[in-house]
Amino acid sequence: MAEFTMELNDEQKEVRDWLHGFAADVIRPAAAEWDEREETPWPVIQEAAKIGIYSLDFYAQQYFDPTGLGIPMVMEELFWGDAGIALSIVGTGLAAVGVLTNGTDEQIGTWIPQMYGDPNDVKVAAFCSSEPDAGSDVASMRTRAVYDEAKDEWVINGTKTWVTNGGIANVHVVVASVDPELGSRGHASFIVPPNTPGLSQGQKFKKHGIRASHTAEVILDNVRVPGSCLLGGKEKLDERLARARERLRKGGTGSSSPAGSRERGKNAAMATFEASRPAVGAMAVGTARAAYEIALDYAKTREQFGRPIIDNQGVAFQLADMRTRIDAARLLVWRASWMAVNGKPFTAAEGSMSKLFASETAKKVTAQAIQILGGNGYTREYPVERMHRDAAIYTIFEGTSEIQRLVIARTLSGMPIR
Ligand SMILES: Cc1cc2nc3c(=O)[nH]c(=O)nc-3n(C[C@H](O)[C@H](O)[C@H](O)COP(=O)(O)OP(=O)(O)OC[C@H]3O[C@@H](n4cnc5c(N)ncnc54)[C@H](O)[C@@H]3O)c2cc1C
Repeated sequence: MAEFTMELNDEQKEVRDWLHGFAADVIRPAAAEWDEREETPWPVIQEAAKIGIYSLDFYAQQYFDPTGLGIPMVMEELFWGDAGIALSIVGTGLAAVGVLTNGTDEQIGTWIPQMYGDPNDVKVAAFCSSEPDAGSDVASMRTRAVYDEAKDEWVINGTKTWVTNGGIANVHVVVASVDPELGSRGHASFIVPPNTPGLSQGQKFKKHGIRASHTAEVILDNVRVPGSCLLGGKEKLDERLARARERLRKGGTGSSSPAGSRERGKNAAMATFEASRPAVGAMAVGTARAAYEIALDYAKTREQFGRPIIDNQGVAFQLADMRTRIDAARLLVWRASWMAVNGKPFTAAEGSMSKLFASETAKKVTAQAIQILGGNGYTREYPVERMHRDAAIYTIFEGTSEIQRLVIARTLSGMPIR
């Protein structure tokens, strides 16, 4: 187990500087254009692939870094460049992690390379869980997967929504219910291979922020996938379902046990969320830091009443608060990320804490940045306007701020989390 450290080692600093160079030289200059176009920035993803930033190897290396600081460092630097473009680059990772954590070695080896493609022909992947009537309340998911034993195929029907890379992905990972009576315990994840008939893109959403990232509905109409596309395999699923049915028979809910319940720490889904949320926190830290740096520079150079505006305590104190919040957010993110990698139990939902604080920080700091830039901050001439729009996503996806508070409070109190 690695000791918790608040400093990057020399190797990490080198990687950080390399990522920062890409964020500053390639991502940031392209940000305004792709925000306006509201399209996936394929050429930027390709550039990232060419130098090794868009690749499974790179993320796996950071993911398994025992200090836990690898992934937060990558997210902070890329999202410092631009949140929409960065999400287009790291969005595939969401689906890849779904396969890495639930898939067999064979599934990992077959599907993850197809998610990324190669530098001359880049591909993206999508993770499809949310539905029109199942956002925060994932257990109420309606998409069904039914096993056709004669053909050893699964037949999937349903509508997914808000899917990052939905419909344009080469590989879709779809979460579906195989036994609705069991709530989230009856869910399973499936690979939908490239060009599978029945999977289509529904409406593409026009969004407030992160507009370079493609978000769309995914329609599944009698989608048939081979039995081998069930992540983890049928035997494992059958065992899991049998355990859940037994619990239900004994009078339990059969549904996900909460992080704060009698089965605290045993719930794999909750543990996965706690481990993935700090990464979103790190994205928020990147956006907040970008806006803060612009505001600080502006406050030092913009003169009113014959002196730089930072000479006014009203402006200087805002910057002091912005920086304090950003550093506090980063520390929470690093702590949770270190805990995740080193298998520490999240007894106070520290992963959710980091996501909650960092995402609220990004919203607040980007709003303060607009205020400090005055009229300029309100225009698209300056990037803080875009950063403020982008920051609004962090308190919504991967669990809203209200859901983070609910998870933290219930974990602390030992109440069940449904
Ligand atoms: C740009 C974008 C990209 C996304 N990417 C993906 C993706 O790739 N894959 C995917 O599966 N999903 C994705 N999502 C979906 C995202 O995770 C959901 O939007 C999110 O979980 C919230 O669900 P909802 O939008 O249905 O809101 P709802 O659950 O309807 O919530 C609405 C409001 O009610 C509040 N609320 C709900 N329940 C409670 C409660 N019990 N207590 C207090 N308040 C509550 C919420 O906090 C929120 O403020 C994405 C969303 C967006 C906007």
